[in-house]
Order: sequence, then structure tokens, then C-alpha cells
Amino acid sequence: MSKREFQTEVSQLLQLIVHSLYSHPEIFLRELISNSSDALDKLRHLTLVEDKYKALAGNGIDSPRIDLELDEAAKTLTLSDTGIGMNEEDLVSHLGTIARSGTKNFLAQLSGDAKKDSNLIGQFGVGFYSVFMVADKVEVVSRKAGEDKTFKWTSDGKTGFDIEEVTGDAARKSAGTSVLIHFNDEGAQYANGWRLTEIVKKYSNHIAFPIFLTYDKSEWNGEKKESIKTRTTEQVNAASAMWQRSKSELKDEDYTGFYKSITGDWEDPLFWFHTRAEGTLEYTTLFYVPSKAPLDLYQADYKGGVKLYVKRVFIMDDSKELLPQYLRFVRGVIDSEDLPLNVSREILQQNKVLTSIKTASVKKILSELKTIAANDPEKYAKFIAEYNRPLKEGLYGDYANRETLLDLVRFKSTKVDGLTSLTDVKSRMKPDQKAIYTITGGSESMLRNSPLLEIYKKKDIEVLLLDDDIDEIVFSTVPKYGDIDLKAVNKGAAGDDLKDETTPELTEELKPLLEKIKATLGDAVKEVRASSRLADSPSVIVSDEDEPSARMRQMMRAMGQKEMPEPEPTLEINPGHEIVKKLLADPGNAKVEDAAWLLFDQALLLEGVPLKDPATFVQRLNRVLNQSI
Ligand code: ADP
Ligand code: MG
Repeated sequence: MSKREFQTEVSQLLQLIVHSLYSHPEIFLRELISNSSDALDKLRHLTLVEDKYKALAGNGIDSPRIDLELDEAAKTLTLSDTGIGMNEEDLVSHLGTIARSGTKNFLAQLSGDAKKDSNLIGQFGVGFYSVFMVADKVEVVSRKAGEDKTFKWTSDGKTGFDIEEVTGDAARKSAGTSVLIHFNDEGAQYANGWRLTEIVKKYSNHIAFPIFLTYDKSEWNGEKKESIKTRTTEQVNAASAMWQRSKSELKDEDYTGFYKSITGDWEDPLFWFHTRAEGTLEYTTLFYVPSKAPLDLYQADYKGGVKLYVKRVFIMDDSKELLPQYLRFVRGVIDSEDLPLNVSREILQQNKVLTSIKTASVKKILSELKTIAANDPEKYAKFIAEYNRPLKEGLYGDYANRETLLDLVRFKSTKVDGLTSLTDVKSRMKPDQKAIYTITGGSESMLRNSPLLEIYKKKDIEVLLLDDDIDEIVFSTVPKYGDIDLKAVNKGAAGDDLKDETTPELTEELKPLLEKIKATLGDAVKEVRASSRLADSPSVIVSDEDEPSARMRQMMRAMGQKEMPEPEPTLEINPGHEIVKKLLADPGNAKVEDAAWLLFDQALLLEGVPLKDPATFVQRLNRVLNQSI
């Protein structure tokens, strides 16, 4: 037996593992299983490409598997595989030094603060050494494929390790590795068949090889009326990454079954997209859209999204790094061949591989949605009923995909029942129509009845009704659809290109009246001007192009933005309206003052803005009513 010391970095790492609190000690099993899976992969590959190894076929290579054997009483667990194995040199270099880039990164990030660093362990995983979170002694017995000696590596994870050759019955009959773990106090909780099953299912369910657990299973004996323990071996993982199978061999039931197993949803998904990318980057994605948007989709602590696997090993399911926020309703799996297994959250954020996968995945999801919209409108309608709003969030944030998203979102409109697409709106444009018009700032019925729409109705021009509370924020950042301007009719001079010929030309005679109204209303309005967009109403409130509408300001205040400067609204007066004509005809009329306020207040009411002083409004209304009766 030869006693050897760990490389300095290994000692540091082990010190840390033993002396910190661990956020997820259970990951030791994930790490060991993935090592076995790698070893099985490597051997399988060698037997395919090298003659020397072909002869080995038959020694368990034909039925690769991973075995977990639990001795609850002794508090030991043996994990064995029939993989590539290690010889003496391998044991020294692989288990005695730090060669892995993941672990090096981990060490580089250490801060010296035990609590922070233990969190790091949870995120990175530290490969094989993580076993010392739960063990006070580990024995690795291994025989390398193509060689005939078996070696045993033993360590307490503190000072160093021993290596010795083992012979006779203790020697392995064929290539492979077994890791015997003696659980410490922290690890004792894992000397439990049920617990191990749970952990395997959580992290390693889709490892390509079957994982068997042998343990004393408690079963109820009806005859003796007591629980008896029976030594049992059962497969604990699904052993197939269903997303790795080819589309042609998968049935709808396979897809829906897997969806339900990862989401806990009892309803079938609306649709799914299964893609395998080969080329510079190799990865598989399987995305699902649930039939119903989760109730908490708009809450800050929403958890959902997709799971990241690296070579079929589960890494994490934090949606934020994997797909953009607005696609958080998409569920499923990304499985990459090119990422390191112990990739951390921090590293993922700037990882080029993941960024490419993410970009391609978003493009894929959006283009599939486009296809469904074109080929299966009924299904697409179901999708829109649930997810129109998150798509709009995308318009706000995902500049690169804006044009596609504009094709995907749907709108209420003055021209059609139900919802319509911008493509259809475009096809309905009048020959001389200069823009696609929208109106924001209220409920659907308020918008439909807005005086601002009068001129458009009269000219038979379509206006989109943006009644969703995020519409104004979103669409104020979207100036165009293709090369067509999107214009809000309640903002700025939107109606100018639609000037109504029936409206009398604005003459000098109108000026004194407008000035008088402005003088009456004072600071309540920014400007009083003649309108060219009204047909039946005497007055309307409009906002400047770059200002939030009156309704929007009210919403922002309701959301707690108290310090909002309040730009006064602009009041537009319809010179063609009877009331205005009468006022014009009699410039000295004493009722101008009441009329000015009533024209202003009614325009505010139609905007959905509550009056600041309803009592004065009512008094004024009654005064005018009294005079007219
Ligand atoms: P990683 O798996 O990221 O390389 P680990 O610390 O988990 O890092 O393992 C270190 C190395 O030890 C592996 O790269 C592998 O060469 C070797 N090893 C670990 N477990 C096994 C095993 N069961 N069979 C063969 N080799 C193994
Ligand atoms: Mg490993």
C-alpha cells in the first residue's frame, strides 16, 4: 500500500467541503452517477471504434448499467458501473489532483466567507469530491478496460489517499469501477432506500443507462400482519431521455406523458416543438406550451420554464437564463452536448454556447407559432387567448424578434369581431391611408365610444383598440409595423392627415373663442385648439406624442408613482359642432365660462378620468340645465 498526499488545491477544497455548511449535499449522488454514465459512454465508444476493445464485448458491455447497493445498518452505499475504469495512474491523477476546469473555476471564485462559499458548492458541484460532504471514508475499486489489474483507492478526504492492488476474490472480474461510501453523520440521512430513489429520480431520471437500487424494502405482510423487510433490486430511473429519441418513434402519448411528468399539469399541452440541432453546436430541445397559462404567470416569484440538461444530466430549471422572460410560459427541456456538467449560474449568464442555444430556441419557438397561426387558426386562437399578453411583453423587450412578434400578437379592432392580426389590418388599409391607427387609454367599451374615433368611423378607417393595461407602455416603444407607421389617435396630431372636409376652415374668428376658453380653464389645460378629428362630439382631450395619456398617468399614480409631474392635457374643440357654432355666433355670451368647463369636464369623463371637483361640475350642469328648460 502506498500513502500519497493530495495536491494542495484538493486539500483546500476538501477542507472547505468538510468545514462548511452545504446547501445541497444530495448532489453527491448526481455527480457519482454522472461519472459512471460518462465511464459507460466512453467504453461504449471505444468498443465501437477500436478493435482492441471489441473483444471486450460480453463483459457487461452489452448490458451497461449502474448499480446502487445500500447497507442501511452499516450506513454504506456502493455505486458500481461497468464502464471504462481506472488504472493506478488514472486513480492518482483523476482523484488526487484537480484537472477539471469546473472545479478550478470554483476555487477561483472562493471568497473566504464560509456561507457564500457553501452556496457556491451547491451551484458548481465539485465532481467526485462532493462525496466527502456525506462520507468520512471512500473506497474506489477499479479495473481499466483492456487491463487485468484491479486497484483500490482509499481516502478519508482529509490528508491524502492510499492506493493498493487488490487480488483474488476482491479483484474485479471485468472492467469498471465501484465506489464504496461510508456515510458520516451528515450523510446518514441518505442510508435510506426511499430517499435515494427520490434523489435519483430528481437528478438522474433521464441518464441513458438503467440505475438499479438494491436495498431492504419494507413490505406489509397481510398474513403475519407485520411489516417485513425483503432484499429487493429495482430500477429507479426511467433510463431513457425521451427527448433524445427520434420524432418518428415517438407517439403523442409519449410527449403528453412526459409533459405531465415534468410539469405536474393534468391537462395535455396545447402543442410541442421537438428539435435536434447538429453542427457546430449539438443540442436537443423539447418545448411545450401548456393549454392554460399558469395563474401565477404574472407574479414576481413565478417558477416554471424549462430544464437544462447537459448530456442527459439534470443541471437546473431556472428559466431566466434559458429563455427570455416573456417566454416563461414555455415548459420543457434543453439538453446540450457542449456545456460542462458543472456549469454554474454565473457562468451560464455569459456562456456563448448557451447564448446561441437560447437565440436559436427563441427563433424556433416563434417560427413554429407562426406556422400554427397560418395552418391551424383554431388552435392558434386558443394559444392567443392565453398568451397574447406575454407576447406583447416580448415586443417591449426583444428587439431582435420584434417583427415576428408583431405578426404573432392579435388585436381588437373597430372593423372585426374577435381578434385580428396586423397582416390582416394591413390588407384592409385604404389606398391613401397613411398609418395603422390605434387607440389606448381605457376599457374596450370606453375606447369604442371615444369621440376620437368619430372621424375614422366616418371615413371607414380601421382603428385597433389597445385595451390591455400594458398596451400603452408597449406600443409607445413600437413605432412601425414593417414600413407602416403605428399611430395612436389619442396622441398628438394623429388625425391631421384625415382632415374632415366638412369641418369649416379655421378662421381668425375662432381664435378669440379659443383664447377665452383657455383663459377660463387656466392651468387645467396646456392648450385649447380647434380639432379636425371630431364629427359628433364638441370636445376631446388629447396628449402629446411623447407624453403618457391622462388615463396612463392615472394608472401610474395608482401603481405608486406619486411624484409624477402632471403635464396638462390639450383640449380640442370641434368648430363644426352646434354648441361651438352658437358660442361663436354670440361672442359676448355670459355662458361661455360654464360652457368652457363643461366641454372640458365631459371630455375628461370620456377619457375615463375622474373629475377633481365633481360637486362644482354638478352645480354647473344644473345651472345650465335650469337655464335651458
Ligand atoms: P469530471 O467528471 O467533471 O471530469 P469528477 O471529479 O467527477 O470530474 O471526476 C474526475 C475524473 O475521475 C473523471 O474525469 C474520470 O476520469 C474519473 N472518474 C471518476 N469516476 C469514474 C468512474 N466511475 N469510472 C471511470 N472514471 C471515473
Ligand atoms: Mg464528474
